[in-house]
Amino acid sequence: MQAYRGKTIEEVIQLLAKYKGKIIAGGTDLIIDLRNGKLTSDTLIDISSIEELRRVEEYDETINIGAATTFTQIIENPLFQENLYGLKRACNTVGSPQIRNKGTIGGNIANGSPAADSIPPLLCLDSIIVLESIKGKREIGLEDYYKDNISIKEDELIISVQFKKPDKGQILSFAKLGLRKALAISRLSIATLLELDENNKVKTIKIASGSLGRYPMREPIVEEFLLGRELTVDVTDKAVKVLQQVMGERLGGRSTLPYKRIAVERIFKEALGDGLKRLKGVEIW
Ligand SMILES: Cc1cc2nc3c(=O)[nH]c(=O)nc-3n(C[C@H](O)[C@H](O)[C@H](O)COP(=O)(O)OP(=O)(O)OC[C@H]3O[C@@H](n4cnc5c(N)ncnc54)[C@H](O)[C@@H]3O)c2cc1C
Repeated sequence: MQAYRGKTIEEVIQLLAKYKGKIIAGGTDLIIDLRNGKLTSDTLIDISSIEELRRVEEYDETINIGAATTFTQIIENPLFQENLYGLKRACNTVGSPQIRNKGTIGGNIANGSPAADSIPPLLCLDSIIVLESIKGKREIGLEDYYKDNISIKEDELIISVQFKKPDKGQILSFAKLGLRKALAISRLSIATLLELDENNKVKTIKIASGSLGRYPMREPIVEEFLLGRELTVDVTDKAVKVLQQVMGERLGGRSTLPYKRIAVERIFKEALGDGLKRLKGVEIW
């Protein structure tokens, strides 16, 4: 087995074209595959020291997170304190401090787990991922990447994940249920992006789930139900029922369904309630 440490994006792209090697960023998923003999390439290309891939850039309208940015870097970045707090919260629930120090957002995306914690908040932000290979750059909507099972080609590197900054009145929230407190891979998570109008009715709502299907996904039927309504206890209870119905159809006869059907109520209300509390300072459930 051979390993290279890329110093620039350009160098990594050339190495990928030449060796069809496997990218290693934090190694928190890949080393496990390596130990289990699941690695398909005998060449590793380390991207963890490329500064360009390890930073968060803010532009007038967008935010660009380099693919090799670690969860800890995101947690510590003041950009994710206010209305983007849901992404910080999601990153803060990943594994343990050691995993957060090494694990990267690009690795979380590429790994494609239904339980990947950073994905539901990124889906609520309508994020796109930027890939580069020797043939040039391409962009894929994060939602399409999972829904249409688009694969990252052997010679492609994820450069960054980008999204439009939410408006001032929009709040991103996240809630997760793990099996164990520490080192828990999320068994169920919900992210919401919420905005209310002057009559306290839902003006914008984006909802994304983790581990409620084969991949993290948006929940458009629940979004449609909530749009234009006031978030009363009654309306929220009905929204939970809509979500339970949708996930019931999706998860079919899975053994985890009865447990998830119960658990989703608390997680959904926690995410939505956090948004409401941050917007209005009120707790309704
Ligand atoms: C003990 C433990 C607990 C964990 N807990 C959680 C948890 O709570 N929540 C959670 O979401 N995850 C969890 N994970 C999983 C893991 O930490 C994350 O998926 C992490 O984001 C992976 O990032 P990485 O940089 O370590 O990826 P790596 O292991 O370096 O790579 C993973 C895969 O992505 C590919 N890849 C990485 N970067 C790129 C890129 N820029 N372009 C193209 N391909 C790329 C690699 O080739 C590889 O196939 C846990 C893992 C462990 C070991």
